[in-house]
Amino acid sequence: MRNRDIYEHLGVPTIINAKGPSTRVSGGIMDPAVAEAMHAATQFCVDMTTLQGRASEIIAGVTGAEAGYVTSGAASALLLGTAACVTGLDPARMNKLPHLDGMRDEVVMVRSQRNFYDHAVRAVGIKLVEVGIADRFSGAGVRDAEAWELADAINERTACVFYVSQPHSQPALADVVAVAHDAGVPVLVDAAAQLPPIGNLQTLIATGADLVAFSGGKAINGPQGSGILCGRRDLVAAAALHNLDHDIHFEQWVAPPFIDKSRLRGLPQHGIGRACKVGKEQIVGLLVALQQFDEDHMARRYERASALLAELIAGLDPALPVSAELGVNPNSEEPWLTLALDSSAPLGALDLAIALQNGKPSIQVDTSQVDKGAIRLVASHLLEGDAERIAMRLNSVLAAT
Ligand SMILES: *Cc1c(COP(=O)(O)O)cnc(C)c1O
Repeated sequence: MRNRDIYEHLGVPTIINAKGPSTRVSGGIMDPAVAEAMHAATQFCVDMTTLQGRASEIIAGVTGAEAGYVTSGAASALLLGTAACVTGLDPARMNKLPHLDGMRDEVVMVRSQRNFYDHAVRAVGIKLVEVGIADRFSGAGVRDAEAWELADAINERTACVFYVSQPHSQPALADVVAVAHDAGVPVLVDAAAQLPPIGNLQTLIATGADLVAFSGGKAINGPQGSGILCGRRDLVAAAALHNLDHDIHFEQWVAPPFIDKSRLRGLPQHGIGRACKVGKEQIVGLLVALQQFDEDHMARRYERASALLAELIAGLDPALPVSAELGVNPNSEEPWLTLALDSSAPLGALDLAIALQNGKPSIQVDTSQVDKGAIRLVASHLLEGDAERIAMRLNSVLAAT
């Protein structure tokens, strides 16, 4: 049973999420099977290293990577992955971060891929070396960075190449992997939101990426504060060592199967990765959500969302000064509804979004198209009755003058 008691008790109003699983609107609505697994996980204690060891096997099975690790989000995975590339398996180096004296302290990336999530990479203390100029300004052409330019920027100080995966990322990952591996440098990929297609769980690794980060709280619909780091065994092992709690004697410590204890001189203390602590309930929830994230699941989700959007459109007053267009998000493959305001509309698109937000209950929509006079609605996390509520609110806000 779904009830709002806890939020009522806290005095925090629930909202209608027509924006999708964004962090700001608390991610999505979890499948009951995942929520139940998380609850069950809280009722017993386990050894966290053993739990992450099993997580590694499950993630490896799903992704085809040598090893995997559950993190407290994709951003955490980027921080831990960068730290792993900088320190390798050396506990002394791990303890020094973010001071990088004597270590590889540069990360090379394509300038057009810079984004605010790369703060997680910079937090390790590295210097970002930006390559290429994607000239969209002068009118002289739109050449982005090329692989040889990355090759030129890689040197003996390079810890890794950082690549932000999008369908339009340039150069192609395979070309980046080729030049990085030529120089003996690993490639760390931010694929936080590159699911679906579900195939991306495997393709980026298959292309040769050494570490790949996915968000657990977006399409996988696991715990909001969860993520995955997967890739090369020694690098995932180093990332894990940055994150696991090692208040234990080295002799006493039992390494999980993906960490080769014989390669370690000792264990690092609480270090830079401690700020990315992940709980057992997050790990269990992520694993259950990941195991049910398949094509059938996506097809059911698509059907449900399409039906809800159709219901929403059917509830709109045909006289409203909007044109409604059903489409599919080319990245997430989920249906979305674009409502473009006619010039006769009583308010602009951003003002419409604000009016929806400030009503009761608050309705959150995607505002990425407001400069084109449109709002977008996503149905993946609407509850029973929400489509009708949204239609009624639109009818009243847009008829207001
Ligand atoms: C969402 C996102 C992140 C962060 O993912 P979290 O799981 O919220 O930490 C990082 N990079 C990109 C490109 C994203 O879209």
